[in-house]
Amino acid sequence: MKLSSRIRAIPSPAGNAWAIYERAHVLKAQGVDVTMLTIGDHDHVTPEPIIAEMSRSARGGHTGYAALPGTAELRRAIAARAGDGVEAQNIFVTPGGQFALFCALMAVLDPGDRAVLIDPYYATYPLTVRSAGGVPVIARADPERGFQPDLADLAEKLPGARALLINSPNNPTGAVYSRETMDGIASLCRAHDVWLISDEVYDTQVWEGEHLSPRSLPGIAERTVVIGSVSKSHVMTGFRLGWLVAPEEMVEAIWELGVSTTYGVAGFVQDAALYALENGAEIEAEVTALYRRRRDLAVEALRGANGLRLSAPQGAMYVMLDIRATGLSGVAFSERLLEEHHIAVMPGEGFGEAAAGHLRVSLTLEDDRLVEALRVLAGFAGELARG
Ligand code: PLP
Repeated sequence: MKLSSRIRAIPSPAGNAWAIYERAHVLKAQGVDVTMLTIGDHDHVTPEPIIAEMSRSARGGHTGYAALPGTAELRRAIAARAGDGVEAQNIFVTPGGQFALFCALMAVLDPGDRAVLIDPYYATYPLTVRSAGGVPVIARADPERGFQPDLADLAEKLPGARALLINSPNNPTGAVYSRETMDGIASLCRAHDVWLISDEVYDTQVWEGEHLSPRSLPGIAERTVVIGSVSKSHVMTGFRLGWLVAPEEMVEAIWELGVSTTYGVAGFVQDAALYALENGAEIEAEVTALYRRRRDLAVEALRGANGLRLSAPQGAMYVMLDIRATGLSGVAFSERLLEEHHIAVMPGEGFGEAAAGHLRVSLTLEDDRLVEALRVLAGFAGELARG
């Protein structure tokens, strides 16, 4: 039987960026000791107090259908965290930031509408735009510019588009958008009457500069949707708890999308997130400190390496390595690194053309093993570059 053209249009025409990840799992299943530096998932479990709170909530009876836009307490806590005049009515709680992205795009795109993405982008973005019936349009953030978006390119791509999707701190590049970049983006969105969707799931992981939410800029809140999540900040990826901060009218409209899809987020998961946001400052600080330390260790381990270039990430839990000097593509390099050294990293090509010839290495391994893996990777790049 034929599947809908809508669902068949979702995958990326460029192919499967996750082939390396899948191959690494096949090798693991065969008993090979593969070092996994692929996806942005923590290498440690959710802190015990958060799990205890989830369990307490479930045992206490919070196991039925939960309020769809999120419990009143959680919406208030998220609003307080967002600041900038955000109220509980501006919050819609979703199963993860990823579903918040889908809701936001569903709320702003009509079929065939264009949504501008900044390349390199988080690998799900083009799929999410297409899932919502939109057409991704690519603007560039080149390595030569420290992966800051090119405002002149954006000014060309935005006329006629309905939405711009940005992500700072950025996955995969580690760029934190400067105030100048954010001001430029905000004024372009106003000038071209475009919705700004700002994915801020890494807002607690800033190593250089400062996190600036564009929603705080003048005259932009009514056209801005902020995406947030406890996945990265509180080691809660598997809980699936995110949110969007949006104009109240959008939150009300998304309500029906929630009714027809997820029917809400489990109450005990929401209570665990409430606990994390209200009592988890120490946990959050520890998680942030862990990735800061690993980021510094990675920068130190790769300093002066031949065959690769590292632009020190300003934020998020990855390092991007430029391996063009080896003469290999990101895909070819990561395939050989996996087969010959049993280290799995993500090829840049999975994140767009601007990341071609790069690797994204996630900092999701304990310090010593991470440094050792990076030394092996750098040695391999050096050998290739020498020919
Ligand atoms: N946005 C970006 C940039 C991400 O890197 C991720 C996950 O890696 C997400 C959104 C989705 O996060 P969540 O676990 O909250 O769905």
